[in-house]
Amino acid sequence: MKRSLLLLFISLTTFAAQAQFGKILKKGNVDAGKKLVKAATLSDEEMATLSLQSVEWMDGNNPIAEAGDPYGDRLQKLVSGLENEDGLNLNFKVYLVTDINAFATPDGSVRVMAGLMDLMTDEELMSIIGHEIGHVKLGHSKKRYQSAYSISAAKDLAAANTGVGKILTDEKIGGFVENVANAQFSQTHESASDEYGFKFLVVHGFDYHGMESAFKKLAELSDDGGKGSLTASHPGSAKRSERAKKWAEKEDAKKK
Ligand SMILES: [Zn+2]
Repeated sequence: MKRSLLLLFISLTTFAAQAQFGKILKKGNVDAGKKLVKAATLSDEEMATLSLQSVEWMDGNNPIAEAGDPYGDRLQKLVSGLENEDGLNLNFKVYLVTDINAFATPDGSVRVMAGLMDLMTDEELMSIIGHEIGHVKLGHSKKRYQSAYSISAAKDLAAANTGVGKILTDEKIGGFVENVANAQFSQTHESASDEYGFKFLVVHGFDYHGMESAFKKLAELSDDGGKGSLTASHPGSAKRSERAKKWAEKEDAKKK
């Protein structure tokens, strides 16, 4: 299995992209930059379209597990009945890549990498999926898309109107996805999503000790977590495992 195209793309292009952004600011053109950012604010409808467009790009550029594939079947079995989470329609796919990663997008698409599935038990995997859904449900992903879109606009990547169903041109969407992937969630957002993910396990009847052990595994890996991996974007796994353990103990106590 290969690494995802997305991550390969990021590691090759990040430096050049940042250098270019720096150049724009050095010109003292900050006001113009601000205007661009303001003009690049997306409506909810545009956000939904851009989110779908970016997922379609990622789906088109990564190998997807078809029905009958052991990874695809395992995920579909785990998420059956979870097609609507708290008002958000969800769809799930596995990318057959070695990355230890997963993500969810504002339109409700959840993508899980086979490398993560190899590492995690069912309940551990569901704790991470719940965490990623949390980022969407709590509005974090929208903010991340918005800021990535602003950067795309500042880099003069945004196309005015590319037609129905598209916010950026086909040539630009890859660069936009790169910006989304590079944008990090804040610690506050990570903590809030952990809490969401934990409750997700409880509500849906999964073993809620899964989160504590998932973060333990990620903590053990964090030394060699390369750029773009779950451990790189989610630091402090050991602490987070401790927090999840406390939540689980509280939950255990309720049953006594
Ligand atoms: Zn997160």
